[in-house]
Amino acid sequence: MLDACGRTIDYVRISITDRCNLRCVYCMPEEGVSCLRHADILTFEEIERVVRALQRLGVRYVRVTGGEPMARLGCLELVERIHWIPGIEEIAMTTNGILLDGQVERAKQAGLDALNISLDTLDPEVYRRITRGGELEKVLRVIDDALAAGLRVKINAVPVRGWSEDGLTGLAALARERDISVRFIELMPVGCGAALSPIPSDELEARMAAAFGPLTKDESHHGYGPARYVRPAGFRGSIGFISPMSHEFCDRCNRVRLTADGFLKLCLNHRAGLDLRALLRDGISEEGLETALREAIARKPRRHGFSEAIDDREERRMNEIGG
Ligand code: SAM
Ligand code: SF4
Repeated sequence: MLDACGRTIDYVRISITDRCNLRCVYCMPEEGVSCLRHADILTFEEIERVVRALQRLGVRYVRVTGGEPMARLGCLELVERIHWIPGIEEIAMTTNGILLDGQVERAKQAGLDALNISLDTLDPEVYRRITRGGELEKVLRVIDDALAAGLRVKINAVPVRGWSEDGLTGLAALARERDISVRFIELMPVGCGAALSPIPSDELEARMAAAFGPLTKDESHHGYGPARYVRPAGFRGSIGFISPMSHEFCDRCNRVRLTADGFLKLCLNHRAGLDLRALLRDGISEEGLETALREAIARKPRRHGFSEAIDDREERRMNEIGG
């Protein structure tokens, strides 16, 4: 469906838990956070019902995220349920990868099409420091297992000044021999990210060009998001840049988000949205649900407004929103 700004909304990102096995410096505080009670998060049946209703309104792509989606028991069962919904063309997952170690084949069988794996460095010590305890070798194994299983794989890195500056070209070089995209996402001032310093995409692109030579624009299909891609000579895969801060892409935004506690978020940085859990648990009809979703989506904010004063700024952390 179209929102009030004429943007086509065909993509939903679903955070299925706010819990995580890691504590990345830009996302969660070291001491952890108080998590939602199980009774307060949507059941798989409720999530499926929302996805079916969104599909009838034109959503075709679904991403399961978190927190760490694999930290929720039965995550792959949910993937399978969504995979079988008629009209859903693609189901993807954003994950830190660790709990997928040994589970990739099962994920493929469940119908997963694509995997975005968050990884900021190839240095095991730096990885452990950024994630506060993560084991790099498991992530690397999952990347290769996923490629072997025929999943489309992207790496998501969030470069942070002073934390993961060195070794970013080494990370990008993963795409030299492998058919993957290594994408650099600008740090956003959300939750713990607000206290850290981003590295702008243009600076990273210049570093990549210095390391790998001229970068050719890669216009081939990479999914349904706002990244722009380049390919150095001799690379099988590509390097991507997602630049919400330096090159705002709100005019092309195609997504809504569902938080683990059932709130339909219309924009990453705005509180505006719809309490779907209350509607679902009050016994709303299918028709009522569609109308409520349609009316909410029509109110999607025009811009994220990260760098200006807005009066309904989001206060949830990234692990609650799902990125
Ligand atoms: N746990 C999973 C993971 O790490 O991929 C899924 C949830 S995580 C919140 C989703 C994405 O948000 C990750 O790629 C992560 O790097 C990114 N992220 C977290 N905090 C961020 C921030 N402040 N700015 C930009 N991206 C952020
Ligand atoms: Fe967990 Fe993902 Fe947040 Fe890292 S970015 S703490 S893996 S939810």
